[in-house]
Amino acid sequence: MKYNRSFNFSAGPAMMPEPVLEEIRDEMMNYRGTGMCVMEMSHRDKAFMQIAEEAEADLRKLMGIPDNYKVLFVQGGGTVQFAMVPINLMKNGKACYVETGVWSKKAIAEAKKYGEVQVIASSADKGFSYIPDCSDLDIPEDCDYVYICENETINGTTWNKLPNTKGHVLVADQSSMFLSRPCDVSKYGLIWAGVQKNVGPAGMAVVIIREDLLRDDLDPKAPVYMSYKTHADNDSMYNTPNCWAIYCCGKVFKYLLSIGGLEAMEQRNIAKAKVIYDFLDSSKLFKGSVEPADRSLMNIPFVTGDKDLDAEVVAATKAAGFDNLKGHRSVGGLRASVYNAMPIEGAEALVEFLKAFEASH
Ligand SMILES: *Cc1c(COP(=O)(O)O)cnc(C)c1O
Repeated sequence: MKYNRSFNFSAGPAMMPEPVLEEIRDEMMNYRGTGMCVMEMSHRDKAFMQIAEEAEADLRKLMGIPDNYKVLFVQGGGTVQFAMVPINLMKNGKACYVETGVWSKKAIAEAKKYGEVQVIASSADKGFSYIPDCSDLDIPEDCDYVYICENETINGTTWNKLPNTKGHVLVADQSSMFLSRPCDVSKYGLIWAGVQKNVGPAGMAVVIIREDLLRDDLDPKAPVYMSYKTHADNDSMYNTPNCWAIYCCGKVFKYLLSIGGLEAMEQRNIAKAKVIYDFLDSSKLFKGSVEPADRSLMNIPFVTGDKDLDAEVVAATKAAGFDNLKGHRSVGGLRASVYNAMPIEGAEALVEFLKAFEASH
């Protein structure tokens, strides 16, 4: 492999497209004749303003974001959004959450600090190995929004059909599947995604919010930074933004447009995940942990059923140059995260390795 880079199966921060890293390298010492690196530049500099404007415009093109939605670049990664969503969207102080795994549980725990949270569906009964049927749920009239984690990074489930919110605002945490497939933004009130899973460096979230959900009547004690309106009114530059993350994400947006957009990306992701799922379905040693219909294209947890053997596989993969295959500490086993930037060759090489491991055990 060029550069001797590893196949990195990390759940995040994760692999970046190589052409993007090469461009960043080439612009490192002198960004397009400015005489400085982007990380040395004022965020009010014309060159940086252009980077930020293009990043937003390219993301809008990529996702087909309607004009009545704002795109915000907010610091604090994903975790800050767990609080920002209820602080901004709980008008009646009541929200409905679907509990599908570790990240929706974190969102629920945080939202409870700000109002009444009703868990309207859960897959806890089977260890979060599936997405519950949400076609006809009881949703109170005065509920402010319905919240889902659209891809549970740790548990390995994904929503292939959005819940029926019965007219209520849908909020989705798309962190670990952002830009992995086409998305009809108009079905959501708010989408947010921490970018270090599928797009760029850690420390920032992209927020896509319908304009009518922006409010200036928040609790006066809410920090100014925690108001979506602060960011919307200031083009995400109320304070110094995460300039570096905006720059890198902007390059990934351009890269995705160059390869044919999200339809093309989805086809690649389907083909890549299939390599691993087909192997798991045929293996006698390894087993996928998720209901086939709800399997994630991005995060693939699997087990041997024997903890010690799981640990042995993880160590063997590491020694063979496959990084970060250990499952999350809360669920154990193994997990292959195969985000947009993981080439299909990585999935194929991993499967060859696991086949050989199985043959020798
Ligand atoms: C990683 C992740 C988060 C948290 O992101 P941080 O930037 O580490 O706070 C939230 N939700 C999902 C689905 C994630 O994968």
